[in-house]
Amino acid sequence: MSKNNDGFEVMDDCIFCRIIAGDFGTDFVYEDDYVVAFDDISPQAPVHTLIVPRVHVENLEDNPDPELLGNVFAAISKVAKVKGVDQSGYRIIQNNGAGAGQTVFHLHVHLMGGKPFGEGMV
Ligand code: AMP
Ligand code: ZN
Repeated sequence: MSKNNDGFEVMDDCIFCRIIAGDFGTDFVYEDDYVVAFDDISPQAPVHTLIVPRVHVENLEDNPDPELLGNVFAAISKVAKVKGVDQSGYRIIQNNGAGAGQTVFHLHVHLMGGKPFGEGMV
């Protein structure tokens, strides 16, 4: 763990920390003081965007600050609006641990939309 220029705790070998730091020139579809959002590299819906706190926490089992969680959730509808799915509807998914399918251990919410979701997986 180290601190970046903005004072956020980051993990040097974390792909999302590096994306947030701008190491790959990733386009952010939304950003604010606490959160960035960028499109998933392997989209599973016409709209598939990841909402990621600037602070490195692994997942909900990593004792995240409730304020951080609030900031992530507050960003979701803003990202939905930017992506044009706020009216048509969208689904959010957030994986905790390898057993749930988490592959990147930096907390993130998947926002998916642009197609009808049937029943199943809630
Ligand atoms: P999860 O399985 O919940 O940990 O989700 C990780 C997501 O990050 C997957 O949907 C990946 O496709 C996505 N992903 C991994 N690397 C990148 C990247 N460099 N840029 C954008 N999305 C990524
Ligand atoms: Zn990270």
